[in-house]
Amino acid sequence: MATSINPHDNATLTSYSTNTPAELNQILKRVELAQGSWARQTFSQRGDVFVTIASLLRERSERLSMLMAKEMGKPLREGRAEIEKCASVCEYYAANAESMLADVALPTEAQYSGVCYNPLGVVLAVMPWNFPFWQVFRFAAPALMAGNAGILKHASNVNGCAVEIEQIFAEAGAGDVFAKVVIPGSRVAELIQRKEIQAVTLTGSSTAGKSVAAAAGAALKKCVLELGGSDAYVVLHDADIAHAANTCVNSRLINSGQSCIAAKRFIVVEAVYAEFIDQVQQAMESATMGDPLDENNDIGPMARIDLRDELHNQVRLSMSGGARLVAGGFVPEGPGAYYPPTVLADVKPGMPAYHEELFGPVAAIIQAKDEADAIRIANDSDFGLGAAVFSRDIHRARSIAEQHLQAGACFVNEFVRSDPRLPFGGIKNSGYGRELSFAGIREFVNMKTIYVSEPG
Ligand code: NAP
Repeated sequence: MATSINPHDNATLTSYSTNTPAELNQILKRVELAQGSWARQTFSQRGDVFVTIASLLRERSERLSMLMAKEMGKPLREGRAEIEKCASVCEYYAANAESMLADVALPTEAQYSGVCYNPLGVVLAVMPWNFPFWQVFRFAAPALMAGNAGILKHASNVNGCAVEIEQIFAEAGAGDVFAKVVIPGSRVAELIQRKEIQAVTLTGSSTAGKSVAAAAGAALKKCVLELGGSDAYVVLHDADIAHAANTCVNSRLINSGQSCIAAKRFIVVEAVYAEFIDQVQQAMESATMGDPLDENNDIGPMARIDLRDELHNQVRLSMSGGARLVAGGFVPEGPGAYYPPTVLADVKPGMPAYHEELFGPVAAIIQAKDEADAIRIANDSDFGLGAAVFSRDIHRARSIAEQHLQAGACFVNEFVRSDPRLPFGGIKNSGYGRELSFAGIREFVNMKTIYVSEPG
């Protein structure tokens, strides 16, 4: 049984029964059977389904945003933006999948040689709760447009979102090639072994990533991992400090701090360190926290009490290691998984705030001597998802982004975000493989080499 609990007031919302082995069997067989005819449809036919999905998402935006607010605490405004982004990724792949997967001629001495792209089959998607719609559509739009089918194992606290997504696929005419299952994370490995599953993608923590990679490795199945991050935002001496501080804070607080690509470590050179801290403190303290259904609030509760308590523990341990508390840093009284915007300055090696992912509204500010020191600190991390550089010299900043920072995406004077037109993914403990853009749609295909000679 998986239960959704409202993190605003700890009220139990709905419980979902775990699928029995017989039900799992039936779902896998149905989806496997349907995938073949789905793959034989034209891109344009599959595209029509995704255009319908986009319009169903937009029609239901208000209801789906309310559901996210209730199941995991996302403020309504952010929920609406998430649903719009899902609709646009569906439209993007409906329009572009065919050209991204067009045959490529590779001339040799053959009469014809080149590659074509075939779908792999049924892909298992293990998804997190933090963007409960976006993470699923980011996978499903390219994978299904390529002709694959999808099985969704959603995080155990957002099965209400999984039910809505499954319903939308069914109403759009793709109910046979997209189905959810309700099982705990501990049973994912046995699903990966099933012969109906050809590949697996996981978005989640590095711990879950290791377990999925091991299971996929044991079964020799293709695997894509989108894992945690501790994105470094490097602020150089010639940065526009007001812009840098605001951008860092916006990125830190999005989704109440629970985004893989949130700014997590703010690495600031000595010359502008004090000024930057002042501005970050003001911006963090002016953010309003409360019921995610109240439009006036910037941040809602965290998704679960246990995650809030884990974050507070990381803050306390960092403080006992010498970090300076500049804002927040306490567990509010009353129900709910609330945690206030918190700023830790003078963060140093050895502290959780330096090494670990802080998955909530906590900014870790680290002082660097100069640019070279800032780059060294930015790369002194087990993670490598995103990074950003702030400087008025955009050529210098771009060369730092291109040549020095160890991350899957580096932005200049901007916060890191995903965009259907650009590849998304990480290195090191942030995972491997890419989603979105031309790269994402080619993860779950067989790039098949074709070589044709004249007979005799
Ligand atoms: P999580 O605990 O790893 O859960 C993610 C999903 O994995 C859930 O469906 C979960 O199922 C399942 N799972 C958990 N343990 C598993 C295991 N041993 N084997 C197989 N599946 C397992 O992560 P989370 O707390 O939901 O999400 C937060 C993490 O995700 C953060 O680290 C964040 O940075 C990362 N994230 C990364 C990206 C990215 O694109 N790189 C995007 C968003 C989030 P149950 O719920 O049933 O346990």
